[in-house]
Amino acid sequence: MIKKGTKLYSIFTGACPKCHQESMYEHKNPYVLSEVLKIHESCSHCHTKYRIEPSFFYGSMYVSYAVGIAFAVAAFVISYLFLGTSLVTSFIAIIITLVVFGPIIMRLSRNIWINMFLHYDKSLVK
Ligand SMILES: [Zn+2]
Repeated sequence: MIKKGTKLYSIFTGACPKCHQESMYEHKNPYVLSEVLKIHESCSHCHTKYRIEPSFFYGSMYVSYAVGIAFAVAAFVISYLFLGTSLVTSFIAIIITLVVFGPIIMRLSRNIWINMFLHYDKSLVK
């Protein structure tokens, strides 16, 4: 397991990047599609504001490009190299992967983006 206090913990769980005490998201399940990007205004433990500035999370689109490529490459390697499918089938596998993992990719990108600016602070944990 990834321990609290590391960036990876906050990135993979969506926990508050400063105290790691609660989730930033209103719904834990990313597949509740209407709620996938709804985050709390601020952390109820350390009162960190998640939207550091207006439209802060637009920047996570840069990250989501990289994360999307990582998922696409993984889908290609698994289908083309391991399962030995044709190029067309691998291409379809990439599209299906990106659609199915879309909500996870969106959240991962947001978590990575906010963790680039906010850092874990042990003194905030009570
Ligand atoms: Zn917090």
